[in-house]
Amino acid sequence: MKIDILTLFPEMFVPVTESSMLGRACENGILNIRLTDIRDYTLDKHNRTDEYPFGGGTGMVLQTEPVFRAMEAVTGISPSEWGKSGKKKCIYMSPRGKILDRNKIEELSKEEELIILCGHYEGVDQRILDHFDMEEISIGDYVLTGGELPAMVLIDSVARFIPGVLGDSEGVTDESIYSGLLEYDQYTKPREYEGLEVPEVLYGGNHKEIALWKFEKSLAITKERRPDLFEAFVRDHRELTKDEQKILDRYTGEDGE
Ligand code: SAM
Repeated sequence: MKIDILTLFPEMFVPVTESSMLGRACENGILNIRLTDIRDYTLDKHNRTDEYPFGGGTGMVLQTEPVFRAMEAVTGISPSEWGKSGKKKCIYMSPRGKILDRNKIEELSKEEELIILCGHYEGVDQRILDHFDMEEISIGDYVLTGGELPAMVLIDSVARFIPGVLGDSEGVTDESIYSGLLEYDQYTKPREYEGLEVPEVLYGGNHKEIALWKFEKSLAITKERRPDLFEAFVRDHRELTKDEQKILDRYTGEDGE
């Protein structure tokens, strides 16, 4: 997937795009992330990219000109020709947007190309969003200083759904939320540390018991922390084994006890 990021702070992305999973995905050519500094496209002699908002109000607004020029440089399409020869998927990170969730992440992971605009100050001139038909996406109900961190969250979460980004043994859909439940507790060596012990079932070697223990832990944690997810799981769950069903019945009170 090719991702173009338009930002006033390209340097913020470097540590993230050069390390860990995203770094590997870029190295392997699965992801091609290109950073564009919007400031390089201002014609203002003081390199300014923002102005006071029409109609008053606090803060400054990112102007159309540097963004239109940066978009032209990135896509090779003149803004006046935009939309005439096919569309490119453009996203504006924004607290006004729809919240980034599993469905949106999966949908975006199927795109071959994304263009992401990071706002700053009070936001961006609305004509940018309208002209390039930018979809506004929020990462949550809080306001950050700029769109850079939200863009990194989006890219990381989307990349995990692209084949080849995670190792073969790591499945995205086994994880919290995506599996329909929150994940069970995890332990690793040693079995005992300063008197703190790992649950015995996990090293007993009985795979069926281990799987049931994990299932029950997931149910218990989900019911306690995310009753909304728990209810959805009870309603729409995958096919369960008899033993799993018995455990679930205990948690829903369907076992008559
Ligand atoms: N005045 C704007 C408003 O009330 O909607 C908030 C501007 S915010 C200080 C600056 C920039 O940070 C935004 O333009 C956006 O790109 C980014 N941003 C802030 N919070 C965000 C969130 N929850 N999700 C996505 N982007 C966000």
